[in-house]
Amino acid sequence: MKRAVFLDRDGVINRPVVRDGKPYPPASVAEFELLPGVAEACAELKAAGFLLVVATNQPDVGRGTQRREDVEAMHAKMCAALPLDRVEVCYDPGQGQPSEFRKPAPGMLLRAARELGIDRAQSWMVGDRWRDIDCGAAAGCRTVFIDYGYDEQLRAQPDFRAASLRAAVPLIVPR
Ligand SMILES: [Mg+2]
Repeated sequence: MKRAVFLDRDGVINRPVVRDGKPYPPASVAEFELLPGVAEACAELKAAGFLLVVATNQPDVGRGTQRREDVEAMHAKMCAALPLDRVEVCYDPGQGQPSEFRKPAPGMLLRAARELGIDRAQSWMVGDRWRDIDCGAAAGCRTVFIDYGYDEQLRAQPDFRAASLRAAVPLIVPR
């Protein structure tokens, strides 16, 4: 069985657009910018034997306020820059019936784990919002919360906290 680090996208890999204390995804590929240290962190995690799986909610596509082609263009740019093994995206609008794939539901992690042969108990979820922490816990992974002080409360406590993905690497890969 393989180990993986599941990565939220906005705020973990790329710089979110913050308005009124809350983070939002970039609107276009031109606005899609990797955060400092992310390439190094991904290289270190890969070198330690982890698969890297991005798991991202992009509800604006389901709500009709963002084009799926723009999200796919961002992911092409992201995959060209980083050694990712898989990108899981949930376009569910988050309105009405809860989706089994939209975080905090663990469906994206469960699907990737099943298809890639990942041992979830030996794996991690890194995210910057309560949905990521609850999703990782529901999938049976250890969790790292990247705390930007957003105007949002966590619902469950993470296993660890870090200031960035780069700062989370020593927690995941002890020396
Ligand atoms: Mg995020």
